Amino acid sequence: MPDASRPLPSFPEPDTQAFWSATAAHELRYQTCRACGSVVFYPRGHCTKCGSRELDSRVSRGEGSVYTYTIVRQNGHPFFSTQVPYVLALVDLDEGFRIYSNVIGLDDPGRDMQVGMRVRVAWEDHGEVALPLFRPA
Ligand SMILES: [Zn+2]
Repeated sequence: MPDASRPLPSFPEPDTQAFWSATAAHELRYQTCRACGSVVFYPRGHCTKCGSRELDSRVSRGEGSVYTYTIVRQNGHPFFSTQVPYVLALVDLDEGFRIYSNVIGLDDPGRDMQVGMRVRVAWEDHGEVALPLFRPA
């Protein structure tokens, strides 16, 4: 029988373990480069601009705006098939990084979603990790 639960990260995961551990405390973490100041996301072991491995971890306020989105109306996966229609969005956080996530809490995504919409992180708890989803702010 197919697993109808939401797919979650599996561990050990060297580059993203700290990110996922912080989600349990509802901290949306991103990195900044000590050498060049770039914002780095998703979490990894080096700066994507200069290659430095000197990265600091920071906590986002979890607020941003929708860069773009799509509305998924069909999905063959046992979990996601129960979620349609749902919004898959690229959200630009105010600290300067972009995350791929869902915008939830809309009565009618086709009517209510807009590019540029302000959103705020909404945590979906799964024990040792939480998923950063977003709701309209
Ligand atoms: Zn750098």
